[in-house]
Amino acid sequence: MRNLILALLACGLIPTACTAPLYTVARSTESMGTVVNVTAAAGNEELAERAVEAAFAEFRRLDALLSHYSDSSEVGRLNREGRLAGPSAELQDNLRKSLEYGALSGGAFDITVQPILELYDRSFRELKRAPTDEEVRRTLRRVDYRRIQLGEGVIRLGPGQKITLGGIAKGYAVDRALEIMRAMGVRDALVDAGGDIRAMGRAEGRRDWLVALRNPRDPRDFITRIRCTDLAVLTSGDYERYYDPDRKFHHIINPLTGYSATELISVTIVGPAAFDADALATSVFVLGLEKGMKLIGSLKGYEGLLITHDRRIHRTAGFTRYELP
Ligand code: ADP
Ligand code: MG
Repeated sequence: MRNLILALLACGLIPTACTAPLYTVARSTESMGTVVNVTAAAGNEELAERAVEAAFAEFRRLDALLSHYSDSSEVGRLNREGRLAGPSAELQDNLRKSLEYGALSGGAFDITVQPILELYDRSFRELKRAPTDEEVRRTLRRVDYRRIQLGEGVIRLGPGQKITLGGIAKGYAVDRALEIMRAMGVRDALVDAGGDIRAMGRAEGRRDWLVALRNPRDPRDFITRIRCTDLAVLTSGDYERYYDPDRKFHHIINPLTGYSATELISVTIVGPAAFDADALATSVFVLGLEKGMKLIGSLKGYEGLLITHDRRIHRTAGFTRYELP
């Protein structure tokens, strides 16, 4: 989430004191509804510059395909028409992974929650009131990821269904941006899409990349510091996008009830791929402490730090391995 994690290393255009000078370029842009920070270091400044621009271009390209806010994106067209012929490989990747996490999480991860989010939006923004139980129940009938059909060259939604890739596409983009920079010959880089982070190589050619996990109830404080070299660190939380002043309605929906998930206030997942970590963080946020811990434990290479409403911090057994003492 935006602002949740602050990268500890401030980088400018710094030639560092290594055997070969290393130029570090750090820039931000806005994409996928958040601030994207990319840092890349290379032996020559021009390569570092080009790598950062290529990472930004990849974010823009993926946003133009996958955003549900745009009518012309593939997701926009699919939502409007209920079917889409000739989907891109990128959309298919995201749908396949979404269905996989739908099944793994017992339905907690469900990209067809979009009509519920639109109901919240309409109720609070236009009608200036909460949705009624009846409205939620009626809308919930359209939610079920198992009605999505991934056919040969065509995708079909069930009647009245709409999807959102907001819980997964940022992780996908973080992985892709990093891979593009690696293919250009950059070994040291960090991508941070509003707190969804993955890094490779070393910071300033010398030390591990570090991120501080901010305390969700006190922005001046942090909970821990995580080494994120060759690791994705992603967080889902309820504490920024509320629809109502009572903080009951926020953007992560429990697809079984049609209401926002409330047991946890924050879920941080670490692991090799940002794509999986993103879907997993949202899944665990919905599942809550007990079932969430169990799901993380069943996935090789992934660990989690969960914060419950009473502000207790719970870690999976292997999480501390990635923390600074
Ligand atoms: P953030 O985008 O704030 O970092 P998440 O990764 O948890 O946090 O994504 C939240 C987004 O996921 C929502 O804005 C919505 O688009 C989508 N979403 C909400 N509830 C679910 C759910 N149960 N399953 C899948 N996606 C969801
Ligand atoms: Mg997510």
